[in-house]
Amino acid sequence: MPEGLKVLLAEDSPVIQRMLSVTLAKEGHSVESVGNGRDAVAAVQFNTFDLILMDLRMPEMDGFEATREIRRLSIPQPPILALTGDDDAATQQACLDAGMNGHLTKPVVLHDMLKMIATFTQA
Ligand SMILES: [Mg+2]
Repeated sequence: MPEGLKVLLAEDSPVIQRMLSVTLAKEGHSVESVGNGRDAVAAVQFNTFDLILMDLRMPEMDGFEATREIRRLSIPQPPILALTGDDDAATQQACLDAGMNGHLTKPVVLHDMLKMIATFTQA
């Protein structure tokens, strides 16, 4: 299991943001949290991340638009995993079309999240 990853967490729910960042920190990862897509796009221009966890529904800029913007930037491109309550086929396809690598269904199950992180990062 990869450890010590720099993770950008974009999630507008303070409860989910806190829960996931505490969980990731316990696993040895460092987490920067933002509450909307616009701040996520800004964050990747100041710091390099190994992984981005991207909520889909956020104010200011949603996860789809933020992902498309990040993918247009000339930066090292980390894997982006969607955090979504809707994991129907259309949403999953929309995530891939926007440039995300996969998705995690909310409520996030720890085991599933760690497995996905291991799959998409080679730390
Ligand atoms: Mg949300």
